[in-house]
Parts: sequence; structure tokens; C-alpha cells
Amino acid sequence: MTQIAFIGLGHMGLPMARNLLKAGQRLKVFDLVQAAVDELVAEGASPASSAADAVRDATVVISMLPASRHVEGLYLGDGGLLAQIVPGSLVLECSTIAPDAARKVHAAAAARGIGMLDAPVSGGTAGAAAGTLTFMVGGKAEALEKARPILAAMGKNIFHAGPDGAGQVAKVCNNQLLAVQMIGTAEAMALGVASGLDPAVLAEIMRQSSGGNWTLEKYNPWPGVMENAPASKGYSGGFMAELMAKDLGLAQEAAQATASSTPMGALALQLYRLLLKQGNGKLDFSAVQKLFVE
Ligand code: NAD
Repeated sequence: MTQIAFIGLGHMGLPMARNLLKAGQRLKVFDLVQAAVDELVAEGASPASSAADAVRDATVVISMLPASRHVEGLYLGDGGLLAQIVPGSLVLECSTIAPDAARKVHAAAAARGIGMLDAPVSGGTAGAAAGTLTFMVGGKAEALEKARPILAAMGKNIFHAGPDGAGQVAKVCNNQLLAVQMIGTAEAMALGVASGLDPAVLAEIMRQSSGGNWTLEKYNPWPGVMENAPASKGYSGGFMAELMAKDLGLAQEAAQATASSTPMGALALQLYRLLLKQGNGKLDFSAVQKLFVE
């Protein structure tokens, strides 16, 4: 049976690892936060005392960390994890990071005979819990075929975006579009409510009209419109605004590298930076609504 090391048990990693356990996979788990490790151990995972301990007997290593620096810090360099992973194993790196950072890890893994896929996800914490994530995969097709049964325990749609780093490029494009949709929805909600409309009525009209989009379907930013959305829980849980700002920064780096014009992405980044400056970085990214009502 495959022995999986799972590193990074935050908002996303914990429910993803849980779905692997439910699918009968053998997991050894590690996070800097002991409580997250304990939660999964209570559900059948083995605890690791360090990342190196987690990968000792693993043939598949999955990581779900915040940003490029965490991923590079984990895998690369003299004390890096790639030196500990058994050659012939497969690394599934699911964090959203810079495509270049992913390519660096790909190259270092290949030099040690370790397979790797960049496999960032979309679908939020609800998708992670339900096992319905979308995986955007960069790397070799053979590696993806090996990984497919494992990814399928955590996600519904698995796309091969292209070669090394392509999954990250797709993810960055997607999140730029998501941010623009979220800001546009928040702005329209505030305008309608300021003009006397009931927020729930307006949300339903726009959802079923030509302004309809994913944020209106699943993630309305106005408190109380959707019972289970982060907006109705004080903007807690979900996808932190500071992580969205990170992704918009990655989109701007990609735009710079390709001389692409991305005015909406640039504005979205500025608005999220403002939200962060107001001390809201740890709130869910739908808290961008606050810019339009306070
Ligand atoms: P998070 O901050 O909740 O979780 C990250 C976890 O990594 C934390 O538990 C942290 O303790 C752990 N960690 C950091 N460095 C570590 C290390 N060296 N060793 C072990 N553990 C370490 O973040 P999240 O919301 O789970 O997001 C993870 C990634 O997924 C990010 O790149 C994010 O952009 C992406 N993402 C998030 C969502 C979402 O809705 N939250 C959706 C899609 C993609």
C-alpha cells in the first residue's frame, strides 16, 4: 500500500488529508501546529515529529503550505526535504506558489530521481471538505497517471495544464479572475443596499441574471445572505485575504514577465493591499466587502 506523507494541515491541507484517510490511504502527517496533527491522528493518521520524519518511508509526499518561500524552504537547500525523500517517490506540491518557484523544485527533484507535479487547487475549504476540488496540474503526463487515484480522493476535476509550472500559471490566472469577480460583486452589493434594496433579494436577482458568477453562487460577500459563507461567520475560515493578495502579486509578476496588460488584476491587488493595511489580512478574502461599506 502507498505510504503518504502529508505536510501542511491548515484550512485546506487538513480536510484534504482527511479525505485521503477516508479513502483508506495510509498517512503520516506533519504541521508546525501540533493541534492540527493531533486532530488527524485521532482520525487514524500517524504523527510525524518533523517533515523529515514524515517522508521517511513515504512513496508519495503531499504538501499544502502558504507560499513560495515556505515551499522552497521545505524542499530545497542542504537540509531540504528532497535530500530525505526516497528516490523514485512522487511529490505532489499543492500550494499556490510562483511558477518559477515550482520549476526550481521540479528541477531539484528530477536531479535526485524524484517525480514531481505542481498541483494547486481551486474550490475553497468547502471543496476541500467535500472532496470536490479542481486540480490544475503541471508536469509529466506519466507522473499524473500515477498520482490520479490519490488526487481523485480529494478532487473531482483533474486537469493537465501542461509542463512543469503550468498548473501554477493556470491557478494564478484563475485567482486573478476570482478576485476581480469578488470585488465586482462586493461593489454591486454595496451599491444596491445603499440604494434601498434587500441584500438577499439583490443577490438572488444578480445570481440568476447576466451578472451571475461563482461568488454569487457559492460565496456571497454580504453578511447574512448565505448562511454558510465566511461573510456570515464574521469572515472567518475560508481563504485568507493575505493569501489572495499573494496570488494577485504572482499574477502581476507573470504579467511583468510576459508584458501582458492586466489592469483589472493590478487594481484588484491594490484593493486587497488596502484591505490588508486596515488589519484584515487574516479574514476571508470576501471581507473586501468592508472597503465598500465602512
Ligand atoms: P493555511 O495558512 O491555513 O495553512 C498552511 C499550513 O501550513 C499551516 O497550518 C502552517 O502551520 C503550515 N506550515 C507552514 N510552513 C510549514 C512547514 N515548514 N512545515 C509544516 N507545516 C507548515 O493556508 P491554506 O488556506 O490551507 O492554504 C494553503 C495553500 O493553498 C496556499 O498556497 C493557498 O493560496 C492555497 N489555496 C487556499 C484556498 C483556501 O480557500 N483556503 C483555496 C485554494 C488554494
